[in-house]
Amino acid sequence: MKKVLIIGSGPAGISASLYLARAGIDVIVCSVGRGSLEKADKIENYFGFSEPISGKELLKNGRKGAERLGVKFINTEIVDLKITDGMRYKAYTPFDSDVYDCVLLATGAQRNTPNIKGIVEFEGKGVSYCAVCDAFFFRNKPVAVIGDGDYALHEAKILAQTSSCVTILTNGKQFKSFLSGGIELNEKKIHELCGHGRLEYITFDDNSKIEVSGAFIAIGIAGSSQLAKKLGAAIEGNIIKVDKNMASSTPGLYAAGDCTGGLLQISKAVSDGACAAMAIIKYLKSDEKQ
Ligand SMILES: Cc1cc2nc3c(=O)[nH]c(=O)nc-3n(C[C@H](O)[C@H](O)[C@H](O)COP(=O)(O)OP(=O)(O)OC[C@H]3O[C@@H](n4cnc5c(N)ncnc54)[C@H](O)[C@@H]3O)c2cc1C
Repeated sequence: MKKVLIIGSGPAGISASLYLARAGIDVIVCSVGRGSLEKADKIENYFGFSEPISGKELLKNGRKGAERLGVKFINTEIVDLKITDGMRYKAYTPFDSDVYDCVLLATGAQRNTPNIKGIVEFEGKGVSYCAVCDAFFFRNKPVAVIGDGDYALHEAKILAQTSSCVTILTNGKQFKSFLSGGIELNEKKIHELCGHGRLEYITFDDNSKIEVSGAFIAIGIAGSSQLAKKLGAAIEGNIIKVDKNMASSTPGLYAAGDCTGGLLQISKAVSDGACAAMAIIKYLKSDEKQ
């Protein structure tokens, strides 16, 4: 039986899961944290409701329907994705990994850039959003990872293989994961990222500073464009580039909903999910013939 991973349990992910489950595909939906729909208090522009409905209620109903069709929901974060030799996908949670025939990214709009002075100024000049993509540029140099959870630790571990020193900066928050592998931790509030043309050091509110050549942003959970970038899929800013079938530029990797830009509304997310599922079914069938 073919196995598909959907990352994100918002309207895009759940809509796709309905079509896939009904086509006899084993569907796992992984999600963590609150998506946009859970924050919507009152919805009155979505088809089928005579009275306003809360985002939470709409989501609960959607999930119930998917579970009835056999979709499995797992409450976990996906921190990394890799392509295996047989053109399948290995997905990593903070604790384990599993292999899938196809992946659908439905992680919603990305809003993971922290409001810290200097971050935007040094993007591409020391500030990065993807350790696996950019670690190479910081070989034998000190780097920082800005974040406070499993995703930050994951990025730090990748950097620790090549950088001279890796420090996780939680920016005043308590670190939520378990430190390992010679990675330093600094929980002070960040004041500013500084340098002359390139990032050179980071200052803290208590007037201390650390010298770094790179700062990797890994706030909260891994965003869809970060995951897509790791697989070499084309992105534009935080938006994953897809064709009319919601296929990314990487075969077997699809994206749907707010993470693909355009109209950031439930109706579009649901439609995207349905289109992606139909394309995935076709892709898996053509794969079987080979
Ligand atoms: C306050 C507010 C009000 C709104 N009101 C309306 C409205 O009235 N009408 C309307 O049409 N639209 C409204 N919207 C927009 C609508 O909610 C979104 O367009 C829609 O929810 C997008 O669906 P999605 O499935 O793409 O993403 P989301 O609903 O954001 O779901 C994303 C999912 O991905 C999960 N996720 C993210 N990263 C990871 C990861 N690394 N690993 C695992 N899981 C992950 C999240 O936990 C979540 O389950 C509103 C949005 C907000 C914020």
